[in-house]
Amino acid sequence: MRPRSVEEVQEAVRQAGRLRVQAGGTKPALSAPREGEEVLDLSGLRGVLEYAPEEFVFTALAGTPVAEVEALLRAHGQHLPFHPPLAHEGATLGGTVAAGLSGPLRHRFGGVRDFILGVRFVDGEGRLVRAGGKVVKNAAGFGFHRLMVGSLGAFGVMVELSFKVFPYPRSTATLRLALGRLEEALERMERLLALDLMALDLEPPATLWVRLGGLPESLPLRVERLQALLGGGEVVEEDEAYWEEARRLAYGPLLVKIPAKLPEIPRLEALLAGPRRYIAGGEAVYAGLEPEERERLKALGVPHLVLKGEVPDPLFPPPQDPFFLKVKRALDPRGRFPLS
Ligand SMILES: Cc1cc2nc3c(=O)[nH]c(=O)nc-3n(C[C@H](O)[C@H](O)[C@H](O)COP(=O)(O)OP(=O)(O)OC[C@H]3O[C@@H](n4cnc5c(N)ncnc54)[C@H](O)[C@@H]3O)c2cc1C
Repeated sequence: MRPRSVEEVQEAVRQAGRLRVQAGGTKPALSAPREGEEVLDLSGLRGVLEYAPEEFVFTALAGTPVAEVEALLRAHGQHLPFHPPLAHEGATLGGTVAAGLSGPLRHRFGGVRDFILGVRFVDGEGRLVRAGGKVVKNAAGFGFHRLMVGSLGAFGVMVELSFKVFPYPRSTATLRLALGRLEEALERMERLLALDLMALDLEPPATLWVRLGGLPESLPLRVERLQALLGGGEVVEEDEAYWEEARRLAYGPLLVKIPAKLPEIPRLEALLAGPRRYIAGGEAVYAGLEPEERERLKALGVPHLVLKGEVPDPLFPPPQDPFFLKVKRALDPRGRFPLS
């Protein structure tokens, strides 16, 4: 089923048995249908509905590719500061919110949850529900729209989303610092956490990627100061291109997101062997895993989400929060949407 309007989505939900929403499938571990499920393809539900650059807000249909929105925002010197991963591969706004994914710039600006203003979605009974609003000053009621971030489509089919946006920094610069050992890299990261950086990533075993943004007049001096503080670091030529490549997350065979914190990195490093990257000051690691490595994470009880690769259970541990399950029962009493 490939609806082209909100009404068609409502109709499709009412007619359906079990449904798996797919916008195009940049995160196939989440969007590929399991046995007995029908695919609800949202790629036809696309387009920006409202954009007010002077208000720093926009509203778009959920199947709109992130890259399309970013091109529009960029023409007005603005961007989505949570830097959604897989944008160039075709990730949509709906899929990004449902999977709750942010990229490296989350470090400075915050994640998807901090930028979503509101959502309209079709629940398991085919009802159209609005949560949040379309403007920044909208403080009324519980922030239900934020609950949709990371919901994996379990509460309903998001059809329309509103976001706030930020100005893109007038100029940016990136430093690369290759250190000898992980301990050294973590010690430098610890010191850098207090600074006003756009991004602070660790590429194991011990390379730091640090990005600054700001006014062109002050940036060279800030870069020099950062080099002095770090005890080195080379300026990366293609700053913009580098970060675009970084958010492609071209790791496999299983692409997995693991929540992290700086002190937990040594333990995770003892478990991970493939290509990987700790983003946003060590807040999360995106890693390429072999299936048996993933089984080890499960056996050790390490929470994670599989984005790519064929697995029956991408979310570990499975959803068990009583509040979450209660909301699920209220919105989807017939269990039309998968829990993960
Ligand atoms: C290499 C490549 C190039 C592409 N180029 C283009 C292009 O140029 N133009 C173009 O239009 N398309 C393109 N596509 C298609 C594109 O992938 C899809 O349009 C879409 O962007 C991908 O969806 P997603 O990755 O955001 O989410 P998915 O992987 O489809 O889904 C992720 C998760 O979110 C859930 N979900 C997704 N949407 C919703 C929603 N609205 N409500 C509730 N739950 C939801 C899913 O069930 C799943 O749990 C391309 C795809 C690829 C792989």
